[in-house]
Parts: sequence; C-alpha cells; structure tokens
Amino acid sequence: MNDIRNINFDQLVSFLKENGEKPFRAKQVWTWLWKRGASSFEEMTDLSVSLRQKLSDNYTFQHAEIVEEVSSRDKTTKYLLRFSDGKLVEGVLIPSKGRVTACLSTQVGCPLHCAFCATGTMGFIRNLHYSEVIDEFVLLNNRSQEIYNQRITNIVFMGMGEPLLNFDNMMTAIDILTGQDYFGLSPARITLSTAGIVKGIKALADRNFRCGLAISLHSADPMVRRAIMPVTERNSLHDLQAALVYYHEKTGERITIEYLLLSKVNDSEKAAEQLTRFCRPFPVKINIIEYNSTSDSLFYKSDPTRRQNFVAVLERCNMVVNIRQSKGQDIAAACGQLVRQTN
Ligand code: SF4
Repeated sequence: MNDIRNINFDQLVSFLKENGEKPFRAKQVWTWLWKRGASSFEEMTDLSVSLRQKLSDNYTFQHAEIVEEVSSRDKTTKYLLRFSDGKLVEGVLIPSKGRVTACLSTQVGCPLHCAFCATGTMGFIRNLHYSEVIDEFVLLNNRSQEIYNQRITNIVFMGMGEPLLNFDNMMTAIDILTGQDYFGLSPARITLSTAGIVKGIKALADRNFRCGLAISLHSADPMVRRAIMPVTERNSLHDLQAALVYYHEKTGERITIEYLLLSKVNDSEKAAEQLTRFCRPFPVKINIIEYNSTSDSLFYKSDPTRRQNFVAVLERCNMVVNIRQSKGQDIAAACGQLVRQTN
C-alpha cells in the first residue's frame, strides 16, 4: 500500500471525490499530514470514522521512530532514528539561549567521502524521501518540547548526507517546513549546508532560495581541498566561486563559510590568505570550527596559536569571523562525528 504522504494534493482530492467525500476534506487531511505532523489516521479526529477507515484501507503511514537518545553534558541531545525499511540516521538538538537548533540528516550515509568526516566512512546508502525529512523534524520537535520546553526554532541541514545531491526531496521538505499552510517556519531560520555542489547551488539561485546557504569549504587551496574533499574533483574551487557569485547576484544573500581547522593541513596564514581571496567576490560570514577527533581520526585539532594567527589574517582583511565550539562532543554529536555502523 502507498504511503499517504507520497501522494500530492490533487491525487488526494481525486481519491476523496471517488469515495464520495466533499472536496474540503482534502484540506483537512492535508493539514493533519503537513501542519500537525500526524502519524496515524486515528489522530485525525475531525474526520468521520468512515473516512478514516477509507483512508486506512487504501493508504499506510510509514513512520520513523526514535530508537536511541543520548544527552551530552552541554544539554545537546543526539537521536538515532529508524525509518520503515530499518535504515538509520542521526539527528541532534542543540539548545542555546532562547533557541533550539535541530541538525537534521538528508541522506542515509553520504557519497562524498570527506577525509575528516565520520559519516563519509559509511558510504552512500540512499536518499531520504521528503516525508522522512519531515518525520525527523516532527519527532525532534516533540522531544524538544518535552525536554527543553520549547519548540525547534532553527534547522540546519548539516547532519548525514549532502542535501544538494537529494535536491528535489530537499526542496519539497523545505517548502513544507516554511509554507504558511504547513509548518510555517521562517526561511531565515533554516540553513542548508553543502560541500559545494556547483549545479545545485546554481539551481538554488534560480529558485531564489530564501533559506540560509552554508558552504563547507574547509580549504581554499585546490590541492589541499581535493585531498580532503574529493567532491572538489568535479566541483572545482574556481567553479564553486563562480556559482557563489551567481548565487549572491540572484538572491542578494550573504553566504556562510564553514571552515574546520585541521592542524597543519589548512590552518596556516597562507591558507587564511587563500580563504580571503576565495571569499572576496561576495559577502560572507566565516565560521571557524574546532575539529573533534574520533577514535580513528587521521587529523588533529589546530593549536590555539595557529588558530589565533589564522583568524588574525581574516580579521585584517575585514572578514566577519565566528569561532564556533562544536556542541555535544562527549556524545559524538559534533560536526563530522555523525556515523552509524549498523545500516
Ligand atoms: S562532511 Fe558532509 S558532505 Fe562530507 S562526507 Fe561528511 S556528511 Fe558527506
């Protein structure tokens, strides 16, 4: 049987019409599915029992569930979510002053094999369907209200996977999260992070994407970036820069640059100068992220002196720089640490 959330609105209207129901029922069902995050037909209490029966005779709900929850000393909480086919992804809730940010996954595993990333070691398993991305949001939003007494205020698509390699599902998921007839979140509170898929960035620009865009850059040196991020082979720094110029021209938005400092790999003053040259054609905010070692890490955290010198170069060039401490380090929920061996 087909999952009710895999049909579009017109198909739902046709189904209801064929079953002798009034057209306005479609809006009610749709609201339950995409605004209230219903996970069963029984919850749809303003529908008649007979309509709920017709729906459940013809459609299923293939829902995700939380199978593990681990809390960090800093109150970050990591979740293991299981989908109906048994595949697992991780999501993270990060509370901070007056807000709760959800870091959500977009694929099971990831095909990009960044050398510093634990998820990359899993390889690619499959894309998430947009309804599964919404499941992540609904499940974590419920937990956020239970444990932090607050709904999710911000979403970052920085969990497992490369969102721009799952483009159509991600655009539908974002439309559902931000649509006024759906969850109604502000696009300004959603950030999509990419390793630099040139074609996808141009496609976002052409859609006049209203959410935040973050680039996991990590090096502006072509040789170094190719070594630590194989995605650079087909998406050169030159093409990436041109795509970001195009993106800024089309949307007028500032771009966030994520830069993981790796000791003696990308943390020299020369590397900082290369970074400023890369960023010069468009406005940016640069987030410097401290590296978190995992048990089999090939890289090390940059020492404080190298980090200060690196940041000083950026600041001399008038770049906006934030130094970010990754949250949830003790539960492997920090950047680059999400991995499941059991998929
Ligand atoms: S850093 Fe992101 S893009 Fe790179 S392997 Fe990890 S999940 Fe994939």
